[in-house]
Amino acid sequence: MSPLLSLLIAFTYNPPGQLESGTEGRVDQHIYVPSMRYPIENAPSFPNSQVYRPGGMHGPGGGQCSATNYQYPWSDNFCEPRRWEMPLCPGGTGHQGQDIRPADCQDKVHWAVAAESGTITSIGSYSVYLVAEDGTRHRYLHLDPTSIAVRRGQEVTRGARIGLVSNAYFDADGNPVPTTIHLHYDIHQYVAQLQQAVYVPPYLSLVRSYQELLGQPGVSCEDLPLEGGVVDDTSPCFQRWGPVQYWRAVQGQGVGTGFMWTNAFISDEPSNWARWNLQLAGAGRFRVEVNLVEGYNRSRRVPYRLRHGGQETDVILDQSTASGWRALGTFDFQAGDDQWISVYDNTGEEGGDLHITVDAIRLTPAAPTQPSADAGVTPSVDAGNQSPADAGQPPSADAGASSQPDAGPAVPAVDAGEAPVVPDKDEPIGCGCAGSGPLEFFTLLTLIGLRRRRR
Ligand SMILES: [Zn+2]
Repeated sequence: MSPLLSLLIAFTYNPPGQLESGTEGRVDQHIYVPSMRYPIENAPSFPNSQVYRPGGMHGPGGGQCSATNYQYPWSDNFCEPRRWEMPLCPGGTGHQGQDIRPADCQDKVHWAVAAESGTITSIGSYSVYLVAEDGTRHRYLHLDPTSIAVRRGQEVTRGARIGLVSNAYFDADGNPVPTTIHLHYDIHQYVAQLQQAVYVPPYLSLVRSYQELLGQPGVSCEDLPLEGGVVDDTSPCFQRWGPVQYWRAVQGQGVGTGFMWTNAFISDEPSNWARWNLQLAGAGRFRVEVNLVEGYNRSRRVPYRLRHGGQETDVILDQSTASGWRALGTFDFQAGDDQWISVYDNTGEEGGDLHITVDAIRLTPAAPTQPSADAGVTPSVDAGNQSPADAGQPPSADAGASSQPDAGPAVPAVDAGEAPVVPDKDEPIGCGCAGSGPLEFFTLLTLIGLRRRRR
């Protein structure tokens, strides 16, 4: 058995929101950066509390190098008691990210690496800020200052070395503050419901990227069985692209825990788009449906593209005519992956508030075609409202290492600007993305010459 495989088999993690402090964490199944790379170069690695474990202020006896600190399972410590203002934490304050121990207790040996491609926007005495194209900001704290391998303004690619994990920590006067050898890692991202960028839970993004690091990309996107099933927008088989501020999430409606929506606009290329990856247990002919939510299905010509059985088929759906399960058609699929259903926002429609529901897709077995019949493409566009949501099978299919097609035009990054050199500080964010209404936003885009009708 390969060393990585044994690590993968051993890997376990406590659920999100279960804190070692015993206080209430954030129970959140959403993966905020599904495509990220694990921020430490090599496995194993052990995210857990630096405070409530051996070597920590409120820990039991023993030093930080105690073996129990370097064992699975992982533990979430987002929202662990701290004074930082944290809109997503149950008590409104808490720890802003996840503390991560590297493979062992050695100082200045283990590399922290870029979670996404992006720009280094700030380097402080013990901090590095990396902002991805969609405005998501990744922050690295406590790296050894002499090891920093990037400079401010530098473009880095996913996985690039940033600095060595250490225990660098200074107060506002520049005096050293003791801490353990660990990487504090956090994610700052625009959250539509809050109309601002905030610290979001990194835990499940770390779980997923760690599984990939261990050699199983999309490990939890499973085979869709021959009897078909549902793939929801919370499934690891689901991926979305485009500026995060144009993705809205609604809880409590749609299939599963909620759904997402975005708005239609006019462009040759999509900006916000999503994909349900499919990996089928066997070949078969399936009716394909998408679930639409009343009030969020206003676009009249939503482009879908299906890749099935080695070919691609485009389907235009008028979402506005009915909600619930709506058919895209019946298609032949082969066994295995490299099959998907994608939805795009560049409908070409004029007007505002042209919402596009992005929720779940459903495959239902259909009668096989006659041998000589069509190749399986029956884009019976809009077969009308289908039978109500029998939730069907749990999600499925393997995303694999799917390539990332163009994510549309770049949008000005939500940049933190200068990072004050203050311990673990929640500095004010110069977020240019919130507050302006659609009209102002449209005007701004017009001024800067982008032909985007939004939102
Ligand atoms: Zn921390």
